[in-house]
Amino acid sequence: DSLRLKDSTLLRTQAWIDGQWSDADSGQRFDVYDPATGSVLASVPWMGAAETRRAIEAANAAWPAWRRQTAKARAAILRRFSDLILESADDLARIMTAEQGKPLAESKGEIQYAASCLEWFGEEAKRIYGDTIPGPTGDRRIVVIKEPVGVCAAITPWNFPAAMITRKIAPALAAGCTIVVKPAEATPLTALALAELSHRAGVPAGVLSVITGEPKSIGAEMTSNPIVRKLSFTGSTAVGKQLMAQCASTVKKLSLELGGNAPFIVFEDADLDQAVEGAIASKYRNSGQTCVCANRFYVHEAVYDAFAAKLEDAVATLCVGPGTEPGVTQGPLINEAAVRKVEAHIEDAVSKGAHIVIGGKRHALGGTFFAPTILTGMHAEMRMAREETFGPVAPLFRFSSDEEVIELANKTEFGLAAYFYSRDIGRVWRIAEALEYGMVGINTGLISNEVAPFGGVKESGIGREGSRYGIDEYVVVKYLCMGGI
Ligand code: ADP
Repeated sequence: DSLRLKDSTLLRTQAWIDGQWSDADSGQRFDVYDPATGSVLASVPWMGAAETRRAIEAANAAWPAWRRQTAKARAAILRRFSDLILESADDLARIMTAEQGKPLAESKGEIQYAASCLEWFGEEAKRIYGDTIPGPTGDRRIVVIKEPVGVCAAITPWNFPAAMITRKIAPALAAGCTIVVKPAEATPLTALALAELSHRAGVPAGVLSVITGEPKSIGAEMTSNPIVRKLSFTGSTAVGKQLMAQCASTVKKLSLELGGNAPFIVFEDADLDQAVEGAIASKYRNSGQTCVCANRFYVHEAVYDAFAAKLEDAVATLCVGPGTEPGVTQGPLINEAAVRKVEAHIEDAVSKGAHIVIGGKRHALGGTFFAPTILTGMHAEMRMAREETFGPVAPLFRFSSDEEVIELANKTEFGLAAYFYSRDIGRVWRIAEALEYGMVGINTGLISNEVAPFGGVKESGIGREGSRYGIDEYVVVKYLCMGGI
């Protein structure tokens, strides 16, 4: 096979339903492409509502036995699952880079992260503690226990083909839930490889199913089927709102990780070299295709020119190319539509007075490769001030006071991640508290890990993934009132 896998049985081209590799009822399939070359890697089943319903019913049938297992037993399986992922890290990274485009080193990093979620939540399974509450009268005792919410459904995006899945299935399985996952059309192969490893780790049939196919009809079944008690979605705000509305008919528990519009603020007392390092990590990782990527840079006027010059030097060292090649830091964008959005945002900014410092156009390699870009002379009337670009473009806005930059930073319907650089302890607290965001990186551009609560406020979403807060999304509280004592 062209991917040169050590274990070629990780390349799966059928969906995983109720412990069986399955084709679509219609026999239809769809192609998965390598964004670096445009060539077809494989095809997978184009499934719809009927297959989804079967996966949900299998999850329901598997639920009682799975929830009855001890937390220790579930933790042991999750630990094995995590270990198997790490043992296959090279192959999984190859599959991921092939279908997603990110450099192999980033794919390997994501695989480690994906595995760490399973390990961490397996451990956390043993600590789903309840409460006892002193009663209001002497003849009663109040006990609170936490129970798995039940059958879950998950819909995941293409930018993190492994981690967005394990961040959902790990807490679900740890809590004693069963789950049906629909990966993005662009990146089903990583998801199916994970399904294979889940089987080898001993996850029982039906406890985890991975279904590929038509998003609308799969999503419609997941959101309308009363067996499903909870939906977890990561993706665009528009689709998230639609799924939230669809879930209303059966009042499902819901977690949403939606779009962001992250500000990255550089104050005049910042360590500029550290700020540039953080900017590169936050902006250009995954070619700018993450929901926590810095989208707007606000740089104090006293350090604006110095920061722009240092950032230019750093961006000039980035290396664009196929993710499989050594030294490459910038893979292709996921598809042509992504490139067109980036182009449209740059055109809009330039037409309103922005200056291209570096990049600004497609890369000479062609396809969906895009040159890492910096824009200066940005102002609030440009699309980039309001919309998520999701590409390798750093637009630099100038500001002159703390009050001004807080207002600018918060002037968005989004509230996922924000970043700022300052060495003044008083300012650090004031700004951290004033930013209306779920996550704030202070003197760092990297904030995502399995032990911390990832999630947004405002239209960036509901709920948290990772950390002890992440398990709350998959349990329900039951209150036992014991009388007659
Ligand atoms: P992106 O712009 O990053 O592709 P999307 O929100 O379109 O974000 O995609 C995220 C996930 O949502 C993918 O798995 C996609 O297939 C799925 N999706 C898109 N539209 C729908 C829909 N109408 N119903 C259910 N899932 C959907």
